[in-house]
Amino acid sequence: MIDRGELIRKLALNVVRFSGLGAVASRFTLGCGAILMLHRVTDDPPMPFGFNRHLAITPQFLDAVLCETRALGFRFVTMCEAIDRLASGATGERFITITADDGYRDNLTAALPTLEKHGAPITIYVAPNLIEGKVDLWWDVLEDIVTRRDMIYLDTPRGRLSIESATPGDKFRANTVIHNYLTTEVPEHAQRKVIRELAASAGVDPARPGRETLMTWDELRRCAAHPLVTIGAHTMNHFNLARLTDEQVAQEMTDSARVLNVELGVNARHFAFPYGYASAVGPREVEIARQAGFATAVTTRHGVLYPEHASHPHALPRISINGRYQQVSHVRTMVRGLTTAMSNRGKALVTV
Ligand SMILES: [Zn+2]
Repeated sequence: MIDRGELIRKLALNVVRFSGLGAVASRFTLGCGAILMLHRVTDDPPMPFGFNRHLAITPQFLDAVLCETRALGFRFVTMCEAIDRLASGATGERFITITADDGYRDNLTAALPTLEKHGAPITIYVAPNLIEGKVDLWWDVLEDIVTRRDMIYLDTPRGRLSIESATPGDKFRANTVIHNYLTTEVPEHAQRKVIRELAASAGVDPARPGRETLMTWDELRRCAAHPLVTIGAHTMNHFNLARLTDEQVAQEMTDSARVLNVELGVNARHFAFPYGYASAVGPREVEIARQAGFATAVTTRHGVLYPEHASHPHALPRISINGRYQQVSHVRTMVRGLTTAMSNRGKALVTV
């Protein structure tokens, strides 16, 4: 979840669109493939203030993206085939592999029928404790709290903060302040207690988002049995791994693969780092994912794939299909690699 760097990409997309750079630059920037990143695929209207709107696209837009990328000559492959193609030099046709993080129910009910139409495989990354409700979808709970309250009281080690949350502008700022507090000041293991206290004082049910939007184990078993679906691991607790010790990181990874094996009978060969941005995954986490035995690991860094990624299978960038910009032209620009270097300070080969 949470796609940082949206603004820079939007700027880059507009530069490409208005400068006519697209046709010229693509010959040089074109990678050999791309990993698309989804979260929710749904026709449900977004929450009124839409703080997490980037995490949901419509099934119609997914269909349009698949039509467009196929027309551009991309072949849809599994994550296993993607890494095999990289390892063998990626000389054939360009490819796309689709991923979805967190295990939302609409991946089964809305995304899969669309993917079936195109024969497009998907890897769904699952964090067992999100599925079991032992961890909350805290970013959605926070949105519920901010939406409901006009004033929020946050008890911090620095004392009690009174955060105005009456107008739409206030709500946006309140969401940002509390989001930053939870992700930078509160230890990962204490996050749930803080968000649950806020939810209780706001009269918000902290279990609602997970219960209503994530799959159950039974639904995941149906997914896992589908020929187009690969199940990948996404840690046990969806913690920011960069904020944990080496041992905790390794345990988060191996425990999640073990539980997925017990519950779903799958051997999870692929892994997605929770959050996936620079302050959540770096060289240490990449090395631990390699040692844990995963064949691949994906971040949320923005970029297409190059043959050189064969040497970096545990630091693969992705192209976020962002709910805020559901335009096929944006996806076309991104999968052709035109925004990769612009979003990464001139670097085309994006790792961590
Ligand atoms: Zn996630």
